[in-house]
Amino acid sequence: MSFLKWLKDSGKTILGDGSNGTELIDRGFISGKPPDILNIQNPEMVKSVLKSFYLAGSDMVQTITLNASFLHLKKHNLESKLEEINKQALKNIKEVCPKGKLVVGEIGPSGEFRNPFGLGAFEKWKSSFLNQIEILEGNKEEGVDLWHAMGFIDIEEMHAALAAIKEVSSKPIIASFIINKGKKGFYTLMGNSLELCIQMLEKEEVDVIGFNCDPGTTLFIDLVREAKGLTDYPISVKPNAGKPTLENFKTVYNQPIEEYVRDISAMIELGVKIVGGCCGTSPEHIQSVRKWIDSQS
Ligand SMILES: [Zn+2]
Repeated sequence: MSFLKWLKDSGKTILGDGSNGTELIDRGFISGKPPDILNIQNPEMVKSVLKSFYLAGSDMVQTITLNASFLHLKKHNLESKLEEINKQALKNIKEVCPKGKLVVGEIGPSGEFRNPFGLGAFEKWKSSFLNQIEILEGNKEEGVDLWHAMGFIDIEEMHAALAAIKEVSSKPIIASFIINKGKKGFYTLMGNSLELCIQMLEKEEVDVIGFNCDPGTTLFIDLVREAKGLTDYPISVKPNAGKPTLENFKTVYNQPIEEYVRDISAMIELGVKIVGGCCGTSPEHIQSVRKWIDSQS
């Protein structure tokens, strides 16, 4: 299995993808509904986005299924489309994945917060993830090669997602939280400390501990430094392209690509194993990181 081989290869930095959402919006998708619906409504658009990341040099690209769990789709009255969306998402990426590269099953939070903020609870979350994961797992080789549970802000919900993955799959798992820096230090929005998140992921024996989205690449370097002091696990980062600004009621990321690459390279030098991008990162970002990585070998 090449992902685990890559992980063990000390000379290899694994390059993931950028933001599929940003690319879809660039191609005309108007948000409001989860972009996951495009897998069935506009598979050609989805495939062109996925392909553009593989061509830019990503070693692995993620299915467009961040919001395609039962509870999340239900929020948009799309739960009856769960099977169709996830099946087609897998088909779309398999059609464009070049030989020797990998397909990552992307799993994201349900959008249903825990009690008393919402109706979320362990069993409810877990069963919501299960149907989706069964489809993406496919018939072993036909399915995804590994998993990335990302964007989580609540360790309980992450725990539920990991339990669901492990119930149906024995493939490798990357697990990423969104962590921001506040007065007390690095915490998730639900108040879980960096230390607690890491302890939980170690206990769950995931393959890679990761962070994605906020808080911009500069603070991400501090986050990596702190995480490195807390764990020997391989680390994955998928930061946003800097801090967002609002222009004409639209969120835009104006960080120059050179600055993004400089900060990513600083994280690689700190020992990060997997790099990629979240909001605002395009195939251009990935291609520039690819160039930097290749220039080091
Ligand atoms: Zn993001």
